[in-house]
Amino acid sequence: MKFSRFGVIDLRQVILGFAVLCVMVTLGNQFIINYRVHSQQMVAHTLASNQAYASKLSDITEQFLNSLQMQLRYSAAQLADNNTPKSQQQETLRLLEQTASFNSVVVVNEQGVITSTAPLTLGVKGVRLQSDSAKQSLRAQAPTIPQPFVSPASNLIVSPSHPIFSADEQYQGYIAGTIYLHGDNILSRLLGQHFHNDKANIIVLSENGSVIYHSQRQRVGAKITPASPLWPAFANAQMQSGSEGVGAMLVGYAPVRTANWVVLVGTERDQVVESVGNTIMNVLAKAAPVTVITLLVIWYLANLISAPLRQLAQRVADSSKEYDDVPTWFFEAKTLRNALRTYSNEQHQRINDLNKASLTDPLTGIGNRRYMEVFIQSMVADEQAFAVITLDIDHFKRVNDNYGHDVGDDVIQGLGQLLQSSCREYDGVCRSGGEEFLLILPGIGKDIALELAERLRVAIQAHDFTPVPQVTVSLGVSLWQPGCSVDAVLKAADNALYRAKQRGRNRCEVELLG
Ligand code: GH3
Ligand code: MG
Ligand code: MG
Repeated sequence: MKFSRFGVIDLRQVILGFAVLCVMVTLGNQFIINYRVHSQQMVAHTLASNQAYASKLSDITEQFLNSLQMQLRYSAAQLADNNTPKSQQQETLRLLEQTASFNSVVVVNEQGVITSTAPLTLGVKGVRLQSDSAKQSLRAQAPTIPQPFVSPASNLIVSPSHPIFSADEQYQGYIAGTIYLHGDNILSRLLGQHFHNDKANIIVLSENGSVIYHSQRQRVGAKITPASPLWPAFANAQMQSGSEGVGAMLVGYAPVRTANWVVLVGTERDQVVESVGNTIMNVLAKAAPVTVITLLVIWYLANLISAPLRQLAQRVADSSKEYDDVPTWFFEAKTLRNALRTYSNEQHQRINDLNKASLTDPLTGIGNRRYMEVFIQSMVADEQAFAVITLDIDHFKRVNDNYGHDVGDDVIQGLGQLLQSSCREYDGVCRSGGEEFLLILPGIGKDIALELAERLRVAIQAHDFTPVPQVTVSLGVSLWQPGCSVDAVLKAADNALYRAKQRGRNRCEVELLG
């Protein structure tokens, strides 16, 4: 009998299913928790490192701008005593070429007219500057780093300036170096060379939100407005260093106080979080072989656990008595096996008892009529010839009447025992009805059967059935041989018995077939 039929899951499948479920839940849980914790850590770490990096870049920018101011101050000092066109020309050229800090250098007089340029090819000499930045530098009469602006030569520039005062403290204009923000310039080289991480965007903004430097160069010159997601960081950065998640960005920021600029270092949150997801998936992928091996071990164990139970179930279904060879290596299976063994033994005993009871006459303890049917069937099946003796107590009604029913029972019982003890082990003896008995005697012919019947009659007559003084019986004898009808033979024996009664009782008669 098969126990795992389609549509019915067995214990192995249940255990494996649970194991797979546990593994899935555990892995899923691990993934979610790791993802959350590591994402938070990565976000915090990125914010902190962006902030630190923004501070570092602001320091570098600060130092750079200070060095530019010092260079311009030196040149302004040179021109203070000797502010001739020739000396202006020499000084601007020297400043341009010696320091390599600027893309160009100009000297502007106190009316805002460019009086000298380096390189000479700039083509703006004699131009009167109109820009706010130029006016700012003139007005300030002090070292200035104005807002970025578009120069007369159409370059977006940032242009630190330093005033020129004559020896008698007369303001004579200013000298300014320019940095072309769109072109190759020292500021972008300086900020670009510091590798932080390739996912971070570095942005330097002027006071009014113009992009002075951007790690994506095409963004230079754009403006950060209050509508921009970076605005909160920009607004904060003008006052202090710090970091914050801005929309989908993790931004570190720091002010550059010399120029009222701010440095923003921003990383897209999604990129950070995505890398966490990838890392965890990597870890899970590396754990996969162990997980598979674990599941295989669980499958093997599930087999071991379910095998005894399956075998026990099979034995029960097959009504087997044998349980001892079922390998029960764990407590529950062993207990179940012992319980089944005990139960099975009891059941078999009960069935035996019932079988025996169903074939036994309760009063005499010898076989009943069913027993005799079974006995005769086996003789017939073996084609074993046998003699039949039917026996009936004479005038038994009188025994009941004279001595009571109980004594009658005792007589029947005593007679049964007497008959049983008088026959061979392999003879069939039964009580076929009230006070009638039937004997089946295998392998016995007519003469011996008749002789035995006569011996029984005499023995019964001589037996002590106190308080009944004497009990006699009448007997009918017949023979069965292969090919005969059993019913006919029994009928013939009954006929012989009837004849014995007719002929005066306490005697034997025989009737043979054909
Ligand atoms: P006979 O056979 O010689 O013709 O006379 P009989 O008195 O034996 O007649 P019959 O066979 O008709 O009566 C049998 C009696 O046996 C009737 C019944 O009351 C009695 N009897 C049958 N079974 C039992 C039993 O189990 N116990 C007792 N005490 N009596 C039984
Ligand atoms: Mg009778
Ligand atoms: Mg009788």
